[in-house]
Amino acid sequence: MTLAELVTTVFDPIREKERGEVDVDCCFCDDDKMRLGINIITGVAHCFNCDFASGDRRSVINSRRLLFDKICEQLTYAATFTLEEGEEDTSVESKNKETRQETPIPDIKMPKEFEPLWKNIDEALGKRALKYLLDRGVTTAQIKEHNIGFCANGYYAYRIVVPVFYNGKLKGIVSRDFTGVSDIKYLNSKGVKTLYNLPAKSKRNSKCILLEGVFDVLAIERATIKGYDVICGLGSKLSSKQLKILRTYNTIVVWAEPDRAGVEGTIKRCKLLSGKKRTLEVVMPLIDPETDTDPGGMSVQEMRRRFRKRILYTAGVAAIMRNRIALSSPAVKKKGKSWQKKKQPIQYRW
Ligand SMILES: [Zn+2]
Repeated sequence: MTLAELVTTVFDPIREKERGEVDVDCCFCDDDKMRLGINIITGVAHCFNCDFASGDRRSVINSRRLLFDKICEQLTYAATFTLEEGEEDTSVESKNKETRQETPIPDIKMPKEFEPLWKNIDEALGKRALKYLLDRGVTTAQIKEHNIGFCANGYYAYRIVVPVFYNGKLKGIVSRDFTGVSDIKYLNSKGVKTLYNLPAKSKRNSKCILLEGVFDVLAIERATIKGYDVICGLGSKLSSKQLKILRTYNTIVVWAEPDRAGVEGTIKRCKLLSGKKRTLEVVMPLIDPETDTDPGGMSVQEMRRRFRKRILYTAGVAAIMRNRIALSSPAVKKKGKSWQKKKQPIQYRW
């Protein structure tokens, strides 16, 4: 994807000026007055609000690549920098950083070790997997409807396996360790570009609730909020395809998870999804986030109550959310996270 393509994909609205200059709402601060100026030809950018600046005077291509990477990083948007058509990269940096084209998604198949959990299970491991789901509030009807199972062996061993369908076709796999032993809680198939629980085009509502993970989707689904599609992205970054689908909704409700990463993720998503033709709302974290949980930990009544209290997203709302998280103790932990080890610095042996 070129810088020009990225800018038109992730920013909305865009004010076009002369010689490749555009103004957009800055993604590096809470600006909503289009104070970030980008030159998509030279890759030079500057925000008059937060003073963000980017550019490389020695190489236009490197300048564009630098800004491209900064925007993707900031918005947790998944894309790879490419040159304009017919352009040749003569910068020194290109020798190190090969400009790759986006790789096609491999065909996804269900793992051969997959065992459904909506049928009779007689082995201990299967029972444990089922118990894990029921403990998280997932109903047997949902297990059947969403084709949820588990694997005892193979790549997804000891994991709950949730297939991701798009228009009836298998497009990916999300898996969750149910033993609490693995350091990798979620293991997904590569290159999933769709959204989880997205209805077929003809059955889609004009409004949706955007959540963080598969278990949040299943929770909100149990609260049966009518008129809304209940979906989530897969992984922390949104892709251009996911963004394109999300932007077909007139109203998007982004559910903020009550921790720092969740709130920052929510703000980034809101920035990507804001637009003049779209109503963007957020379900706020509680004033005391320590007493808060993700939707999976709430009763149906609580989920509905929180949903009713959603508010219109603005830069001010982003500040309030950040404030609530900052006011809570730094050790805000979600249920089941305590076993996670802190990353150790790499030890080198000489
Ligand atoms: Zn700014």
